[in-house]
Amino acid sequence: MASVSSRPTIVWFRQDLRLQDNPALAAAVARSGAVVPVFILDDAAEGRWPLGGAARWWLHHSLAALDESLRERGSRLVLARGESGTVLRELIKTTGADAVYWSRRYEPAVIARDKDLKTGLGVEAKSFNAALLFEPHTVQTKAGGPFQVFTPFWKHCLSLKVEEPVRLSLRTLPAPETWPRSLVLPELALLPKIAWDAGFTKVWEPGEAGAQKRLKQFIASAMEDYGEQRNRPDVDGTSALSPYLHFGDLGPRQVWAAVKASAKGSGIFPPSRGAQVFLSEVGWREFAHHLLFHFPHTPEAPLRTEFGAFPWRTDSKQLRAWQKGQTGYPIVDAGMRQLWMTGWMHNRVRMIVASFLVKHLRISWQAGADWFWDTLVDADLASNTLGWQWTAGCGADAAPYFRIFNPMLQGAKFDPDGAYVRRWVPELAKLPAEFIHCPWEAPLHALAAAGVVLGRDYPQPIVDHGAARAAALDALKSLKQTSP
Ligand SMILES: Cc1cc2nc3c(=O)[nH]c(=O)nc-3n(C[C@H](O)[C@H](O)[C@H](O)COP(=O)(O)OP(=O)(O)OC[C@H]3O[C@@H](n4cnc5c(N)ncnc54)[C@H](O)[C@@H]3O)c2cc1C
Repeated sequence: MASVSSRPTIVWFRQDLRLQDNPALAAAVARSGAVVPVFILDDAAEGRWPLGGAARWWLHHSLAALDESLRERGSRLVLARGESGTVLRELIKTTGADAVYWSRRYEPAVIARDKDLKTGLGVEAKSFNAALLFEPHTVQTKAGGPFQVFTPFWKHCLSLKVEEPVRLSLRTLPAPETWPRSLVLPELALLPKIAWDAGFTKVWEPGEAGAQKRLKQFIASAMEDYGEQRNRPDVDGTSALSPYLHFGDLGPRQVWAAVKASAKGSGIFPPSRGAQVFLSEVGWREFAHHLLFHFPHTPEAPLRTEFGAFPWRTDSKQLRAWQKGQTGYPIVDAGMRQLWMTGWMHNRVRMIVASFLVKHLRISWQAGADWFWDTLVDADLASNTLGWQWTAGCGADAAPYFRIFNPMLQGAKFDPDGAYVRRWVPELAKLPAEFIHCPWEAPLHALAAAGVVLGRDYPQPIVDHGAARAAALDALKSLKQTSP
């Protein structure tokens, strides 16, 4: 339990940018003194992983939304930049606060920093869980270790209790007598200098209200069919909640409770197969955090150590073609362009483009993870590491490296009419469906009718699928021969 005090409490917002289901905020309110909400931009504390460009865009807008909600309640968000400990000590001095509350994060560098602050602030410092259903230190195998396979992990989690969201009825938030000095949001310089974010604004509404809207809409219109539709990038079949969950505009307990409430008194939970599959995907997010917590070296190094000797290629030209969506493989290019334009990519396509990079091009998963880190609005150290290591075959419960996605077959199966490709690679929009995933196979008259000259309007494939596949398998063989 938090202590009761009439002195102010600092609520240090981090990846919990919401008022509801925020136990740190609720505990601060319960202390009955003033509440000083604070956000600190502290890039150095993130170690090798300071926020990427797209995530900064999201953060800017999410902070604006949080500040607005606080102001509606007679409060505000104090903004600062710099070393968190120094900023917090200064705030403790100027506000007379005798406690600092925050929600836990699980990135290794942040854990180390927070541990120091727990004892180093000179006032009560307390952390809470707002980000996960099952925190990594509370889940273990029968033998007492971490899980490395998803199915038993999730089965075990489902035997545990999920806490209800923390509800806070708040017309006003007790404000301090005088507000400490704050930067104004533009001074955090989170928005890009060159406006490549125009497409983001059309797609996203960052913040707590936007998250609730998206959650309700998904549950009402797409959740039931999620099991069938979630692999179809041409359909709006997934929740697109990942950036909200990453920044804590929304918490997973709120997702769980909303799915439960959608059962509408039927008592059946989960209410549909779609809901069950959806919650298990939220489970993958939990698994990702479990792995990052127990294997903190994995953002930089493969969990399966033998992959440390994999003969990755360095090829800046091909890497650039992949980044820009100019590989000549339409489904890959569509995904990479969706990412650039919106800061998000469909999960099935993330797997396809990642596989293409690490298998067709044999460029390292770390190079891919770095690009995703900079361009995803949902860039998340736990999920990004898991996704890349899974695809590269070097992580926990990973797809074996020898299983190489065929981009043409993946396209034909999951984007059968080519609607996804047509949307993101408009120069191919007029090609008939049979050639949309393999334009190089189209006869010249079909290309001409679609207004496409390969090599001029759209690239020839930068690698041959069959040859690239064979080379990837050879590389794997060489790894097996060199590993002890
Ligand atoms: C190479 C690669 C990199 C990835 N990088 C990230 C990342 O940086 N940040 C991120 O949030 N997700 C990442 N993912 C996982 C996944 O692609 C996204 O979470 C998902 O596409 C988000 O879309 P959604 O919200 O519509 O998901 P939904 O299908 O609606 O799923 C609901 C929620 O479950 C979680 N989730 C779903 N699938 C996964 C998964 N495979 N792993 C972890 N959590 C999952 C997400 O929080 C998601 O919002 C990555 C996957 C791959 C293959």
